[in-house]
Amino acid sequence: MSWLTNFVLPKIRAVVAKKEVPDNLWHKCPGCGQMLFHRELEANLHVCAACGHHLRLAPEKRLAMLFDDGKYTVIELPKTIVDPLKFRDRKRYADRLKEVQGAKSGARDAALVAHGTVGGVAAVVCAFDFGFMGGSMGIAVGEALLAAARLAVLQEAALIAVPSSGGARMQEGILSLMQMPRTTLAVEMVKEAGRPYLVILADPTTGGVSASFAMLGDVTLAEPGAVIGFAGARVIEETIREKLPEGFQRAEYLLEHGMVDLVVHRRDLKATLERILGLLCRKGPPALAAIAPPHTSERGWDRA
Ligand SMILES: [Zn+2]
Repeated sequence: MSWLTNFVLPKIRAVVAKKEVPDNLWHKCPGCGQMLFHRELEANLHVCAACGHHLRLAPEKRLAMLFDDGKYTVIELPKTIVDPLKFRDRKRYADRLKEVQGAKSGARDAALVAHGTVGGVAAVVCAFDFGFMGGSMGIAVGEALLAAARLAVLQEAALIAVPSSGGARMQEGILSLMQMPRTTLAVEMVKEAGRPYLVILADPTTGGVSASFAMLGDVTLAEPGAVIGFAGARVIEETIREKLPEGFQRAEYLLEHGMVDLVVHRRDLKATLERILGLLCRKGPPALAAIAPPHTSERGWDRA
C-alpha cells in the first residue's frame, strides 16, 4: 500500500521474529566447528557426533549421568568466608562472585557434591563446574572436597572426583594454594578409611587442581582429548624453547606415559565406573569369608 506497509513493516517483523528464536539451540563444536543441535547434543551426552569432541559438562548433567537412574542428593556445603583478601582487579572479587552466582542461579561456587549409588555401590561425587570462574579452586571448593570426603567416610561410600578446572583461584591468593594440602588430606582420609577414591579427569584439569587431589586417585580415568597438566603448554614451550610433541598434555598422551589408567568415552564412563567399583567394593563370597586364617583366635579349635 505504501512505503510503510511494504518496506518498514516487514523489517520490523523480521527483527521481532529473530528475537523469538532462542540463541542457544545450536552449539558450535570446538573440535571441528560443526553446528550441533542442542537436542542431539543432549542425547549424545554432549559429545560431537561428527568428531567425537567431548564438550564441557555442567555439574548437574555430570551427576545425572553418573548416578543410577540419574538420581542423586546434593548436599548443602558449609558456608565459607567470602573474599578474605578484599581482592579487586578491574572489579571487586566479591562483585564478580555475586555476578556468577546470579547467572548460575543457586550455585554458590565451582563444585557440587552429591551422594547416591553407582552400579548399586554407595558413592559420593564431587563435580566441578568450569563455567563458574574456570572451575577454580578457592576456599569454598576446598571445603566442598573435604565435605565430600567426610561424607564418603561416614556413609562407607566411594569418593569420585570429577575435576574440570583451571587451577587455584588467584583472587584468594595463598588461601587458594592452601586448598592443595587440604584436599590432599581429604583424599587421605578416604583412603585411610579403606574406601575407594576414583578420579575422572575432565577437560581441563590443570594448575593447583592437577597438582593435588586430581592426581591421587586409586584409579584415574580421563575423558578423550581432555587437557591435563600443570603449567600451560605455551608457557612450557617458551621456557624450555623447544617444540612440544604432538598431543602434549592430552588425556591420550598421559595414558601413554603412565599418568592415567584409562581414557574412557563418555558413553562408557558409567559402565566403566560400575565395573571398577564392583571390583573394589565387592565383599568376598561367603564360602571364602568362612575360611579364616589359622592364626586367628576364633579358629583356634581347628589346630587343637
Ligand atoms: Zn566436532
